[in-house]
Amino acid sequence: MEKNFVIVDNGHGVETKGKRSPDGRHREYLWCRKAARRLVEVLKSKGIDAALLVPEETDVPLRERCRRASVLSQGRRAVLVSLHNNAAGDGSCWREAGGWSVFVAPNASPDSRRLAALLFRRARSADILGNRATPPCGYWTANLAVCRDMPCPAVLTENMFQDNRADVDFLASEVGLSTIINVHSEALKEYFGV
Ligand SMILES: [Zn+2]
Repeated sequence: MEKNFVIVDNGHGVETKGKRSPDGRHREYLWCRKAARRLVEVLKSKGIDAALLVPEETDVPLRERCRRASVLSQGRRAVLVSLHNNAAGDGSCWREAGGWSVFVAPNASPDSRRLAALLFRRARSADILGNRATPPCGYWTANLAVCRDMPCPAVLTENMFQDNRADVDFLASEVGLSTIINVHSEALKEYFGV
C-alpha cells in the first residue's frame, strides 16, 4: 500500500510585495513558513510523513513547485496543503472581514474536495470561521494555480485575515498558531483514516 504523505506549501517569499498587516507586525511569508514547519513536525509526531515544498525563504515559481511535488508524491499517497493568510484590502488599513477558509480549484478531485470539507468541519469546531458566510459545502472554489496544476490532491487554506486586527493578534499568539495547526493535522489524520 502507498504511504501517506503530506506536502506542505507556504505561500509567497520574502520579496513578495504587500502581504502584511497594516502596522507591519505580521508578514504572510514569515507566518506561513513558521506554520508550515510546525505542521510538518506535528504530522510526523502523529505518524504521518510530511515535507516542506519550499524550504527556502524566496518565492519559488509555480512550475518548480509542481516539479518538486511530482518528485515527492512519486509512489506515495500524497496530498498538498498550501498555507496562506487572507486579506480584505491592499493592506493600507485595518478591515472588518475576519476568519478562516479553505479553497479548491475548479478541477478539484473528489479527494481534494473531501479534504477541504474535513478541514472546514475542524475549523468550525475550533470556532475560527469568523464573520463571513461560507458556501454550503464548506469550501470555496477558485482558479488557484497551486491547486489546479498539482500532480496530487491539493487544497489552499486562508488562515485568518492579515488586515483584521483581532485575527493578527490571534495569528501572533501560541494559541492561534496551535489551533490552526491542530485543525490541519486532525483533518489530515481523518483524511488518511489514521
Ligand atoms: Zn497568500
